[in-house]
Amino acid sequence: MSEELRITLSTLLNLDRDFSTGRRAQPYPLFLSSAATQRSWMLSPFPHQPAAAAQAPAALAIVECVKPADFEQLHEVAAAEIQRRQVVLGLGTGQMRGSFGAVIRSPNESPKPLEIRIDGVSIPANSGNAPIPKHFRLWAPTRHAMGDAAWRKLCSLHITIIGAGRSGSLIAEALHRTGAQITLVDMDKLETHNVGESALVNIDDVGLPKPQAIANRLNESSPGSSPVECVTTELDSLHTLATIRSSSLLITTVDNPECRLLAAILAQFYLIPMLDLGTGIQHHFGDAGHPRDRTMGADMRLCLPDRCLLCSGGLPNTAATAASLLDSYRTDQAGTRRPWFRQRSGSLRSLNGTAVHLALRMLEDWLDNRLPPERNRLLQLRFTSDGTPQLTTTDFPHTASTTCPVCLSAGHGDSELPRLREILRTLL
Ligand SMILES: [Zn+2]
Repeated sequence: MSEELRITLSTLLNLDRDFSTGRRAQPYPLFLSSAATQRSWMLSPFPHQPAAAAQAPAALAIVECVKPADFEQLHEVAAAEIQRRQVVLGLGTGQMRGSFGAVIRSPNESPKPLEIRIDGVSIPANSGNAPIPKHFRLWAPTRHAMGDAAWRKLCSLHITIIGAGRSGSLIAEALHRTGAQITLVDMDKLETHNVGESALVNIDDVGLPKPQAIANRLNESSPGSSPVECVTTELDSLHTLATIRSSSLLITTVDNPECRLLAAILAQFYLIPMLDLGTGIQHHFGDAGHPRDRTMGADMRLCLPDRCLLCSGGLPNTAATAASLLDSYRTDQAGTRRPWFRQRSGSLRSLNGTAVHLALRMLEDWLDNRLPPERNRLLQLRFTSDGTPQLTTTDFPHTASTTCPVCLSAGHGDSELPRLREILRTLL
């Protein structure tokens, strides 16, 4: 069982600020994500909610570390007897600013060191100790262009891609061939009309679960990356939830807003950065029903969990999407859930590929610390009716206070799952 502490960069900077100005409002509540092989302790970006603090299964205490030996002695710094679990976070100050360490203490147990993930990226990756894929030299040009540290961070992420259609297959191939560890999630089976312009699959794969068809091809031709894993159950099934909980980056390439909204809420619960891609093609018809015009576009968004997707550009119709998702939880008389995983009306590989590669560029620059810090970013590409591409970039700053129910759920982990429907009702 591996254990880690998840925290966002903004939260860490706020703690550092509070600590250095004497506002040490400890202890902070810590919430839990408990999967079969991994336990993650999470600090909410909004740690001063009294109701949430009362339910928290552990607390965070912070100690100042002014020299390397202080990190080695973290478990001794807080040696007093404890009544409930406690994580001790060592915060480097002075010459040690920017260094962190953590241990977990449980009543009647020896302290254990914790891995720290900041916005999904593990601390050892920053210092060059991340596990490196086999056949290291295969990626020499990638490391040279992206930056070695950024590439190591990419390889340290467990990336879950939700949606294995055209965009999903393209981004899966690109990331797999960059050396990243990926899991593909999609409950649909491959149909003939999916084969056309999709990457990696062919007509013999029709009938296979989409993730399996893609993973088979990638694993056959793998240059040395970790094998691609597949999940073929619904997004809110226990199996899929277990995969999402142990992810350090979620990528959504889904067609429907319900799936996108649910993924965005789960990303907040578990403090997982989210890279969201959506494409659309619209035909406009004249009076006689003849095609008159056509526009197309793509949205690419990087959301760190300090600010949710709804507060970073939102969805076209949040209330209707939440209502549709709530409706899907009602079962018919036979006990079958209503389906909401719908198909898209049309797509073009050129548009999907453009969206995928613009999103990947944004991801690479984020890993290389080139994007503005403490911001979420939305790229919007539009092709006008005469084919002119227009790209706009919008940054959404993280805020210290909010009334958004999805933002406020950030980092509350497993304890927030029973409140999913209640949160959806607040969006109606
Ligand atoms: Zn929000």
